[in-house]
Amino acid sequence: MGKVGFVSLGCPKALVDSERILSKLRADGYEVASDYEGADVVVVNTCGFLNSAKEESLGAIGEAMTANGRVIVTGCLGANPEEVTGAYPNVLSVTGPHQYEAVVGAVHDALPPPQDKFTSLIPPEGVKLTPRHYAYLKISEGCNHRCSFCIIPHLRGDLVSRPIDAVLKEAERLTQAGVKELLVISQDTSAYGLDVNYAEREWRGQSYRSNFYDLCRGLGELGDWVRLHYVYPYPHVDDVIPLMAEGVILPYLDIPFQHASPRVLKAMRRPAREDRVLERIHSWRAQCPDLTIRSTFIVGFPGETEEDFEHLLAWLDEAEIERAGCFKYEPVDGAAANDLPGAVPEEVKEERYHRFMIRQQEVSTRCLSSKIGKTLDVLIDEVDEEGAIGRSKGDAPEIDGCVYLNGDTDLVPGEIVSVSIEHADEYDLWGSRPSVS
Ligand code: SF4
Repeated sequence: MGKVGFVSLGCPKALVDSERILSKLRADGYEVASDYEGADVVVVNTCGFLNSAKEESLGAIGEAMTANGRVIVTGCLGANPEEVTGAYPNVLSVTGPHQYEAVVGAVHDALPPPQDKFTSLIPPEGVKLTPRHYAYLKISEGCNHRCSFCIIPHLRGDLVSRPIDAVLKEAERLTQAGVKELLVISQDTSAYGLDVNYAEREWRGQSYRSNFYDLCRGLGELGDWVRLHYVYPYPHVDDVIPLMAEGVILPYLDIPFQHASPRVLKAMRRPAREDRVLERIHSWRAQCPDLTIRSTFIVGFPGETEEDFEHLLAWLDEAEIERAGCFKYEPVDGAAANDLPGAVPEEVKEERYHRFMIRQQEVSTRCLSSKIGKTLDVLIDEVDEEGAIGRSKGDAPEIDGCVYLNGDTDLVPGEIVSVSIEHADEYDLWGSRPSVS
């Protein structure tokens, strides 16, 4: 069993950080060593508040280096890594305060966690609630936007991105455990890395920045299906479309547009250049004709007029949003939108919701019927005595449609097969494997 020595300096906040790191290390199966000599690696949680505290921290690092030699530094002094590496260039890793995951990752790198199939309660990929062949990959927490209908930033705070090497290592562990499809999630996937100034990290001997493009590039290296959810329509989303066209990641974008009328978008405090967004969608489709766009919309937002709503329906048609969910606006306690004038009566919301869904079904039917006669890759989710059910690259699990392979019972979940599409309705496809039909 790996033994970790731990030195905790500084204030109560630093102590709580130390407790969290130690709890995670114990849960991962490490033992805590009582002295430097008995430790395989030593973590020093430093303080950098006053000069005297910095000196004490540097002294503690020096002591650990002399007595053990394998030292990981974290905490407030790590906010300026050069102060540490200038004095001790051979420390294994330096991270700042509250970077629990990065510290635990550094310990894993220096001393791989014990894995005993008879005693370990947690597999290397962690506990998963999804089927074995797909997994959600959370890249950040919180959000820097302040959409007027939403209280998530209030509940979860501003954006906090995970270091890119931690995300890519988790994805790698999931792949090794049999995952075939990675679903990237966050509150705002395209903002990834903004809060850490797009910090550069190493993974598999190559340098990656903690940004949206490198995230897609790195995940694409694993050979899984990589699906992007909760993308905000920033201009740099354009940069990943070539990766979709080249097959590095799936040609799929989940962008919650929420509305199309500039007036309503403004009241929602969302980007309001819907004409520019339309232009970009056309350009994305020209570059990547297989692109599927999923979105969510809110109808009956305070102040939404019949004209705003008609605008939304026309936009939906023109943008050809294949997969769309619709919600009737509901006030949420604490949301700024509650103070807006022009509440829309419930029966009007209901009526708009039904009109939206009818229009959406028309768009979806048109898009799906254009797939008849094509051969698509399908990831199998379920097999029973009646046949197999899977999803194409354009279908996310749980929220989009399915591909039915009636009578094909020889498949297993997680397999990816070629399917000739023979039939479509407004949400789903039917087909068969060329060799089986
Ligand atoms: S709706 Fe999404 S983008 Fe807007 S504030 Fe909430 S979490 Fe952020």
